[in-house]
Amino acid sequence: MASIFTKIIQREIPAHIVAEDDQFLAFLDINPLVKGHCLVVPKQEVDYIFDLDDQTLAALHIFSKKVAKAIEKTVPCLRIGTAVVGLEVPHAHLHLVPLNNMDDINFSRPKLNPTLQELTGLAQAIKENI
Ligand code: 5GP
Repeated sequence: MASIFTKIIQREIPAHIVAEDDQFLAFLDINPLVKGHCLVVPKQEVDYIFDLDDQTLAALHIFSKKVAKAIEKTVPCLRIGTAVVGLEVPHAHLHLVPLNNMDDINFSRPKLNPTLQELTGLAQAIKENI
């Protein structure tokens, strides 16, 4: 069965997309740790990030750099932190998390639940900064 991220890539379910090319998609996490938290996924459905081939793994990071710079311009933060967890969705992805302190990237914290309107506005703003 297709992963939830493949369904987003194929536009079967909606997401707040901020960037896309032929290999990757970046969109807002639906339950972010902090405002601006994005996910970057390869279109190729591979569960474990370290099972990606070297070229895709490298290209994922290069694509993420562009997204991180745009988030940085949009959301006040000291820098963008990255994390790989993958315990919830079995489709490789990189978390891009705007950081103002160490706790901002604490995945044990309760997640936020932004409105659709907030997500739409934020995705648009990030997109404009790419
Ligand atoms: P992980 O697999 O790295 O542990 O966590 C998966 C992440 O994907 C979580 O931060 C979760 O909020 C996010 N997520 C799960 N389902 C969806 C979804 O349908 N849409 C979006 N935009 N994010 C999702």
